[in-house]
Amino acid sequence: MRNLHLFSIKNKIDFENNLNILKPNQYYECAFICNNKIIFFEKKICFIKFKDLRHLTIKKENLNFLGKKGNTLFIGASISLKKLKKLFKDRLFSLVSLRDCISLVNNEQVSYLSSLFYLEKWKNENKFCSKCGTRNKFKHLKNFLECSNKSCLKKIFPKLDPTVIILIKNNNKILLARNKNWKQNLYSCIAGFCEPNESLEQTVIREAYEEVGLKLKNINYLFSQFWPFANNLMVGFEAMSSSVKLKINKSEIEDAIWVTRKELLSLKSKKKIILPKKYAIAHSLIAHWQKS
Ligand SMILES: [Zn+2]
Repeated sequence: MRNLHLFSIKNKIDFENNLNILKPNQYYECAFICNNKIIFFEKKICFIKFKDLRHLTIKKENLNFLGKKGNTLFIGASISLKKLKKLFKDRLFSLVSLRDCISLVNNEQVSYLSSLFYLEKWKNENKFCSKCGTRNKFKHLKNFLECSNKSCLKKIFPKLDPTVIILIKNNNKILLARNKNWKQNLYSCIAGFCEPNESLEQTVIREAYEEVGLKLKNINYLFSQFWPFANNLMVGFEAMSSSVKLKINKSEIEDAIWVTRKELLSLKSKKKIILPKKYAIAHSLIAHWQKS
């Protein structure tokens, strides 16, 4: 069993004890997000040391806690383009999508930036209390929202959607499928959302049956991944199908094929199949099988 750390924060332990901002011997580095894009200064710099931000007038309650390494706390804030231009008038900067950040910075920084991306999106979508309609207040550095109505005080914690993704096996083959909306020749593993009355294993069984008509057994958990682009917690399983006979649900799946390791290599080299990018859990599931 292992976790995929890309997009996930490794060092969350000790967070709560380190929230007093500007503590002696503690350093702070801050990243910024503007219109869902991460701000990069020069080529690969996205975290600015707090001591260089003395003229920063971002409200403390808007700061997100992203991670900690040694004596350095990594924090992040949303900023308007107008303020950004004013604050960094002497520096060149560019706005970079989270996906593009992956190739620019190390995995640790990607995990901090994905947290910033997710938290800001979540805050924007939860500006008002769902119980009484009053504006929610972000509890800075604690990463939750609280209704500002004193007689309500409803707390809202970040929400994730549990989603299973399944490496379906039959003897020496695995099943790859493509969604009708995907780019040409992209194939991946079957995946789907967990419903309220299901365990993850039951979701695995239902999704495989609904999408390709297979009945699965020997279901094993492999690893998981936070997927910030759609608020998913992707939970990776492997499972066996005793049959190779498919009944494809055409409303979702355009094509599904069984491949051996050799066939997969050949299809890939001929560009008849494109696999998901390295940072996606589906890539790791397929690589896990290729190595086994
Ligand atoms: Zn309320």
